[in-house]
Amino acid sequence: MSDVKGADKPIITYCVEYAQSQTSKCATCNRTIPNKSLRCGEIFRRSKKEKKQLSKTTWYHFKCFPVPELLTKLPIEQFRGYPAIEEKDQERIQKLLKLGKGATWNEHFGAQDKKKEAGAEEEESKPKKKKRDEDKPIDMTAGLTGQNPKSLKRPNKQAEEKVAKKAKPVEPEVKLPKSDMSEVASISKAIQDSLATSKKTMALLESKKKKKVQEKKD
Ligand SMILES: [Zn+2]
Repeated sequence: MSDVKGADKPIITYCVEYAQSQTSKCATCNRTIPNKSLRCGEIFRRSKKEKKQLSKTTWYHFKCFPVPELLTKLPIEQFRGYPAIEEKDQERIQKLLKLGKGATWNEHFGAQDKKKEAGAEEEESKPKKKKRDEDKPIDMTAGLTGQNPKSLKRPNKQAEEKVAKKAKPVEPEVKLPKSDMSEVASISKAIQDSLATSKKTMALLESKKKKKVQEKKD
């Protein structure tokens, strides 16, 4: 339905990738985007009718890219190129998007980055897995306290689904400390016992009923 109506409207999509040259300039800081560095693009097409080759892309350093409202609303899969980039950068993008519309990486994490870079140069290009993993807990709390619950669902949707599928059958077997285990055991025994007694009671009632019926007949 919106397809027909939107035919003449400008189309804006977003993409993320590693720069394939160093000819692009960042629209925020006007500096060159180095080859192979992470960059985000805003792709503008005047309408659906316009050929894709005629679309214009505005590039930004990843760290200068202001989060567009659209990306806070759509599933991450709509961010073109996202599945192809390295996991550590996917995590950074998730982190960025959680900050909400208009936020930039520099604004929120720029100071941290400078500290890191003072120690090790160009931390970006080297895959420092451990560092990224350490970032994860921070990431989680940021998500929990963030005001955008939708973005919470976004992190690694596939992975989450996998976990959910795997986790579900296991769920009933909650691992508890031993003291709790014995408590659980005694509770379940109590339940079993009360079930047994109630069965007995039921049987008793049943037999009484039968007797009454018998008596009536008599
Ligand atoms: Zn820039």
